Amino acid sequence: MKKSGPGSRFVEVPPDAIRDFLVEKGLVEGCVRNEVVFDMKNHNCRHITLRVYTTIACAQDETRDLGEDAIRVVAFYERDVEGSLIRKPVFKAAKILRTGSAEKVLSRIEERLREGYAVCNRFAKEQQCKHEDCVKSRIDHALRRAAQSKEASK
Ligand SMILES: [Zn+2]
Repeated sequence: MKKSGPGSRFVEVPPDAIRDFLVEKGLVEGCVRNEVVFDMKNHNCRHITLRVYTTIACAQDETRDLGEDAIRVVAFYERDVEGSLIRKPVFKAAKILRTGSAEKVLSRIEERLREGYAVCNRFAKEQQCKHEDCVKSRIDHALRRAAQSKEASK
């Protein structure tokens, strides 16, 4: 942790602060090329994933440079059609540096997620995905929404 010495302007936000924040938002942790990622599948189409690349190494003892110094929020569409993978980028947010106050970094992540979420929803509506899982997910979501508003109006 050489970058976080006293007086340094480049204090890294601790991995656990980022992890707790994203888990609380319902994102699921994974690992891609030794970088911790957090994924959220879109409720309108399960083929759309909103992903946060954290710059955190998956293996704690791993010292290899990840080659990335900024948090990235992206979204992509991925679907296996008869054995061939279709992958399209859906969203790419401005990068977020992992330095400075934790509060600011987390609120920037939240902003980018909100942006990405809106783009994913638009994309999903255009797709009108007829896949069984995606149709089911839309129905489940609508039912949850209805239950929530019923609960709120009590
Ligand atoms: Zn779908």
